[in-house]
Amino acid sequence: MKQYDITIVGGGASGMAAAIAASRSGASVCLIERMETAGKKILATGNGRCNYTNLSISTEYYHSRHTRSVARVLETFGSREAMDFFRELGVEPVSRNGYVYPRSFQAASVRDALTAELDFLGVDMMTCSRVVRVSPVHNGYALTVKTYPLRPDAGKKKRKPKPDLSAAPDIRKIRSGAVILACGGKAAENLGSDGSGYLLAKELGHSVRPVVPALNGLRCKEDYFKQVAGVRTEGTVRLFIDGILQDCQAGEIQMTENGISGIPVFQLCSLACRGLLEKKKVQCVLDFFPEWSEAECEDFFTRRLKRLSGRSEQAFFNGLLPEKLMALCAALSDFHPDGQKTSGQQKESLKRFVRLVTHFPATIVASRGFDQAQACSGGVLLNEVRMPYCESVYHPGLYIIGELLDADGACGGYNLHWAWATGILSGTHAAKRKRDTSC
Ligand SMILES: Cc1cc2nc3c(=O)[nH]c(=O)nc-3n(C[C@H](O)[C@H](O)[C@H](O)COP(=O)(O)OP(=O)(O)OC[C@H]3O[C@@H](n4cnc5c(N)ncnc54)[C@H](O)[C@@H]3O)c2cc1C
Repeated sequence: MKQYDITIVGGGASGMAAAIAASRSGASVCLIERMETAGKKILATGNGRCNYTNLSISTEYYHSRHTRSVARVLETFGSREAMDFFRELGVEPVSRNGYVYPRSFQAASVRDALTAELDFLGVDMMTCSRVVRVSPVHNGYALTVKTYPLRPDAGKKKRKPKPDLSAAPDIRKIRSGAVILACGGKAAENLGSDGSGYLLAKELGHSVRPVVPALNGLRCKEDYFKQVAGVRTEGTVRLFIDGILQDCQAGEIQMTENGISGIPVFQLCSLACRGLLEKKKVQCVLDFFPEWSEAECEDFFTRRLKRLSGRSEQAFFNGLLPEKLMALCAALSDFHPDGQKTSGQQKESLKRFVRLVTHFPATIVASRGFDQAQACSGGVLLNEVRMPYCESVYHPGLYIIGELLDADGACGGYNLHWAWATGILSGTHAAKRKRDTSC
């Protein structure tokens, strides 16, 4: 049976960082990854550019039940530490409005730097290998690993090599002094994370806060969204749960076939999904003219009505919002500026129109699901791991890191930052623990 000082379950962002830190601190390390290669998800991050940290790192950009625990990690490992870590690997940072990317703007630079370092350090990498059990034993842990062969047609007909899950796996046991669970959540399963980490953590006695999708678009009840699918416009999105305002986000709102998307919607997604999970009424209110109050907006449109009197309806609406969106708002409020209505009726319909463009309703019924989500909200409770090193309070030498934990960040590099921070802190600590116990 193979034996290591430290075994890391999951070769994603947090697991690779943990393996590098542990190996640099002198431990023998094995990294086990269920996909055919480590770091697949990193390649998809930041639209292929990998927004790997942010110049402004603080707890206000994270959701968690235990904010103080998040703070302990971020105070120990901030954006400077993240940039230094990658500089040492040869990846120079560049910032765009505080969002930090590799200077090449290529996510592959980040992934390749990590794999090259693992190789250089001599970390044992097992790919196509799924850890199905972690059991505490005397002086450490026993792991059961199922390794699958590559699909027989790999490489042919341009098919990418993938583990053949229909083949009988090779089942092995590994012994390890310490184990780091770095399995990710269950967002974007095609990139590796399938939620199996939650099961492993639960089997080891940990509590998992129910998981909902984060950083994702939202589906709405109203069927008028299909009329404006593809439209993008600047505005604000306010989120109400059971009628109480939770948060407001500004930015580019995107309309989809069945709802809303875009960065402001992504930022509200986990709060909205948690509201739905708790069977509450979840409502978004969009404001397409956030620079004005409703009264100022009404004043603007009243003056515009006078200024453009006698012109066509198209001329009245032109140049303010995307055409399809204007047409929808006009139709829903029955506002026709060139109509033959009496001035009283005109005034009423103008009020309805202004109300709509400043309070456009979107009743949330679901997110677009875990497959389309960029992260998960919820996970292993942070009061069950010792911060900042993420060591289990139940099992010495067991660490739980990355997205598997109950901490999810906003768009802007915060989730990857959390992955590097918890990975490097846990890896360093696990190696030090090994040195201390063998003295
Ligand atoms: C499309 C997309 C774009 C994103 N863009 C950004 C961005 O620009 N900036 C940002 O900060 N965040 C971004 N994120 C989020 C970020 O990628 C994740 O939060 C981060 O990768 C989490 O790291 P992790 O190591 O915890 O989990 P993961 O990166 O998901 O890695 C977990 C690994 O564990 C493996 N695994 C799981 N279970 C087992 C098992 N039982 N045995 C063996 N292996 C296992 C999985 O195959 C996977 O490789 C994005 C996510 C997506 C999907």
